[in-house]
Amino acid sequence: MAEKLLAVKGMNDLLPDEAATWEWVESRIRDLLARWGYRNMRTPIVEPTPLFVRGIGEVTDIVEKEMFSWQDAMNGDRLTLRPEATAGMVRAVIEHNALYNGPLRVWQMGPMYRHERPQKGRQREFHQLDVEAFGWPGPDVDAELILMVRALWRELGLVEGQHVALEINCLGQPEERRAHRAALVAHFEAHAELLDAEAKRRLHSNPLRILDTKNPSMAVVVDTAPKLMDFLGAASLAHFNGLRALLDAAGLAYTVNPRLVRGLDYYGLTVFEWTSTLLGAQATVCGGGRYDRLVETLGGKPAPGIGFGMGLERLMLMLDAAGVKAPDAAPQAYAIVPDVVALPAAMQVLDALRSQGVAVVMHAGGGSMKSQFKRADASGAAFALIFGGDELAAGQVAVKPLRGEAAQFTRALADAAVWAHELRRT
Ligand code: ATP
Ligand code: MG
Repeated sequence: MAEKLLAVKGMNDLLPDEAATWEWVESRIRDLLARWGYRNMRTPIVEPTPLFVRGIGEVTDIVEKEMFSWQDAMNGDRLTLRPEATAGMVRAVIEHNALYNGPLRVWQMGPMYRHERPQKGRQREFHQLDVEAFGWPGPDVDAELILMVRALWRELGLVEGQHVALEINCLGQPEERRAHRAALVAHFEAHAELLDAEAKRRLHSNPLRILDTKNPSMAVVVDTAPKLMDFLGAASLAHFNGLRALLDAAGLAYTVNPRLVRGLDYYGLTVFEWTSTLLGAQATVCGGGRYDRLVETLGGKPAPGIGFGMGLERLMLMLDAAGVKAPDAAPQAYAIVPDVVALPAAMQVLDALRSQGVAVVMHAGGGSMKSQFKRADASGAAFALIFGGDELAAGQVAVKPLRGEAAQFTRALADAAVWAHELRRT
């Protein structure tokens, strides 16, 4: 036998049982987004590398060490598999002048790529729901995005406070962050002996990221560091308080986490994360924030924006841990075809049933009645349709309920569209 080829490390297959849950979740998400007025758009998986270097920031985990990048063999272009979706969304919005007619609520779902160490809830190919609202500067749309995520939790059977919790923070404006940053550098310099190697390296390139450290021995020096909140001006505080008032009015509990800075460079004002106790070490399922300067940074006419990314693998882990299951996706009927001569007539009837919305599986590959009935049972179908010789000669098909005690009955081949509704799941 030839040598088996395996999937690339950190990139997973989804077999039908698992994919069925994904499809159900994805359709719930699509449906919900439509009800909130968000429209789908799609951008390429491959983008020019400079888009991410400029759009995410040079001194970030993603750009420093997580991107799958290469040089195009034909023309030498530097290309990257998208590690996140916002930069591509912004590029597309600028490229197509999509804000010309006013603000825009958009989303997409798809694969992202990061070269990380694979573990539970962390892959090299993973999937995100990405949602962006372009053109609104105020906290109203910030609250809308956060509350839309809460609506999704509820729709999927997850409970805030029990399964998921919200953290928010305000990162203010660039000049406020500069003042804070200077105070922060002074604080860390004064306690340089408490910093680890990574923190020392980041001290001058990106000191804010030191606050994001997972090193417990730096907890004290981080906890006693100057707080950005104390450097915020009136406008930033008003934005933050406006958001808080809307969340409070909606009865959504949250924690203000002054250490929440997010991994990406482009955020300002509102940032938020939804975390879950169901996830273990990779606890963040959804993270987002406001990026009012990103459009300009990537060459567009200045326009505010806010968005979030939700990790779908982590969402699936949560649903699994919470015991949430997709509704049963068994077919309604399974067609038993004892003799191949019945195939043309059977296929015509199945076609008519399917066009009436009935999910019906045809037995393929022949075999005894007994083995076909076994398949019918295993399919989970509610009915077997038996295209036997006698029935066919009478212009009929036998319909046998596979669950419960109801008796078998016959229906006319010619008017399947009329009785299709009898097979539809109630
Ligand atoms: P983390 O701190 O877990 O690395 P992050 O800050 O890098 O997360 P974001 O860039 O904010 O993550 O991405 C948004 C969401 O995408 C995360 O909250 C998470 O649910 C998901 N995500 C990010 N990286 C991965 C990955 N490698 N595998 C699976 N999901 C991921
Ligand atoms: Mg990360």
